[in-house]
Amino acid sequence: MARVCLDPGHGGRNQNIGLGGYRESDFALAAALEAQKHLRAAGVEVVLTRRGDYDLCNPEDSWSEVTDLQSRCAIANNAKADLYVSIHSNAAGNPDAHGTETYCYQTGSKAEVLAQAIQRRLVQALGTYDRGVKTANFYVLRNTTMPAALTEVAFHTNPDDVAILRDPDKQKVTAKAIADAVLEVLGPAAWNAPGEAILGLSRIPVGQAQAWAKSRGASQWFIDLAPLYWELASKRGGVKPEVAYAQAAKETRFGNFGGVIPGPEWHNPCGFKTKSGGANDDPNAHARFPDDRTGVMAHLDHLALYAGAVGYPKANTPDPRHFPSIEGKAQTVEALGGHWAPSADYGASIVRDYLTPMLNFKQEADLAALKAELERVKKERDEYKRRLVQIRELTDIWKGV
Ligand SMILES: [Zn+2]
Repeated sequence: MARVCLDPGHGGRNQNIGLGGYRESDFALAAALEAQKHLRAAGVEVVLTRRGDYDLCNPEDSWSEVTDLQSRCAIANNAKADLYVSIHSNAAGNPDAHGTETYCYQTGSKAEVLAQAIQRRLVQALGTYDRGVKTANFYVLRNTTMPAALTEVAFHTNPDDVAILRDPDKQKVTAKAIADAVLEVLGPAAWNAPGEAILGLSRIPVGQAQAWAKSRGASQWFIDLAPLYWELASKRGGVKPEVAYAQAAKETRFGNFGGVIPGPEWHNPCGFKTKSGGANDDPNAHARFPDDRTGVMAHLDHLALYAGAVGYPKANTPDPRHFPSIEGKAQTVEALGGHWAPSADYGASIVRDYLTPMLNFKQEADLAALKAELERVKKERDEYKRRLVQIRELTDIWKGV
């Protein structure tokens, strides 16, 4: 799986304020978080140098630019990221200065390819003035060990440019352009990473999941549980509901239980343990929830945390095991093996034995519907044949009169 480090510039004690109170650190963070979503949805792992409004120096020490920048490089280098992108907005004494420019350390490098892709896509998407790709001896470009680019999206000292930077829709456009540039440079081999991404949009209607569950002998409780997943998934980190429902099918044996969790009255759809955990065969080591909705929310939050969804870890969650240490540990269902459960095959089994048959169930249902339609048409044809014979007989009788 390809890995990209996104570096939202500034933050904390290092603020750049633009026209109208615009803050460069807020813009850079919003763009990076949104770009992260796109990249993760494409199966690319993302490492952020910061996730909030803080700098990267020790809070007890005074702020130092070199320490701050060194920490950003260290995060990218330690993560062995394949690419590094630092996101900034520009400033100039002359308020007329405007447009987009992107930097790399030297030309003729893969870093330049990255910078060119970012520059081209930003100018295209935002309609900003094209100041081109430039080289610079910036600390983060010099001290990162992977191809690195630094983009100055627009000038926060220019009235037209700062309006773009402040506009939440344009921030999303910025993020999409950067993400697309990264995907372009990584190439299809990287972003078509094997595995079923946990985050993403649902591909099937809830009815199909329910029909599949029913065909597999699911309890009525389990069939009735599905709409909760489809309702809540997009609000809990953007987990694919069918992925969570497939996991719930495995964990609860389609709601028939029979394991350490006695039944649906525990509202525990995914075999959750309590915060302190314990032995697999100890019922008291397992969580109980007040209702199904809370249990499903906890399940989705736990998956979203594993997948490193935006906004996770969450401050307010019913997930009893919402440990920051698991954040981003599994972006695919397959990678849950050895993490969510000890078996290395755990996640692969969810995909192979549950999710794939659920996704394919539509074809079976369609085939059944087509067969039924064919039968109906055949019957109708036979009925017309019968009536035609009747009409002929009547005509013969009439002719004979
Ligand atoms: Zn900056």
